[in-house]
Amino acid sequence: MMTDSSPARSLQAPAPDVPQNAAACASAEALALRDVSLVYSTDKIETLALDNIHMSVRRGEFVAIEGPSGSGKTTLLSVLGLLDAPTSGSYHFFGEATERLARRERARRRSQRIGFIFQDFNLIGDLSVAENVELPLSYARVAASERRERVAQALGIVGMTHRADHFPSQLSGGQQQRVAVARAVVAEPSLLLADEPTGNLDSRNGEAIMELLLALHARGTTVCMVSHNPAFSRLAQRVLYLSDGQITKETIADGVRR
Ligand code: ADP
Repeated sequence: MMTDSSPARSLQAPAPDVPQNAAACASAEALALRDVSLVYSTDKIETLALDNIHMSVRRGEFVAIEGPSGSGKTTLLSVLGLLDAPTSGSYHFFGEATERLARRERARRRSQRIGFIFQDFNLIGDLSVAENVELPLSYARVAASERRERVAQALGIVGMTHRADHFPSQLSGGQQQRVAVARAVVAEPSLLLADEPTGNLDSRNGEAIMELLLALHARGTTVCMVSHNPAFSRLAQRVLYLSDGQITKETIADGVRR
């Protein structure tokens, strides 16, 4: 069980899949933001939600993002998840420049390569558990027989096979979030984005969801997670701290880098 005293994971041993020379290191980059700013403009006011963000995430890395309310965490995740485009700067997604991608192409990258987990689960109330988990596969046009197999597998991973025919309202919060995790991973995304995935859960269920995320990371998925809970974010390999739309600090497992 994870508690406040859980040790941060060690980064002493290099990840086995991280190449050593500079050129290969570039290809090990999953996500790269260069001088990214995002301004929300409404009739009366402009808000600089992201202010010159410069960051990258390695393939297979687990990064946590912390910061006070309004500091830009959700905006950063929505840029990483190709839901929002930066106002300026560049974003490379698994080696591909995203600036010129058409809306449909961005949607395709999302459905094929990104799984999202939200604080409030976002399950569809009049679909069963299995139907909720199947949704991303329908968008990705996976054949019906394969869909059934993959849904069963994803529900197995999160321990919810026995609730496949239930509806979200018949489940506890912890169970709903398990289903949401299954939905996020059923299409085997390269990137998992989680926005305060334990925020609406008690500590026991929060720990269970964290254990699932760590297990998915151990299988090779790149994970970016916004968290208010330092006990959870320090289980990531790296924590980025946001303040007023800027990255002000970064910690790597056992030390502060800047
Ligand atoms: P956090 O997730 O850290 O709480 P957000 O990314 O939600 O922060 O918001 C960053 C800033 O951008 C805040 O000042 C917020 O009010 C503003 N903001 C967020 N979404 C919008 C929007 N759709 N329109 C205008 N301003 C927004």
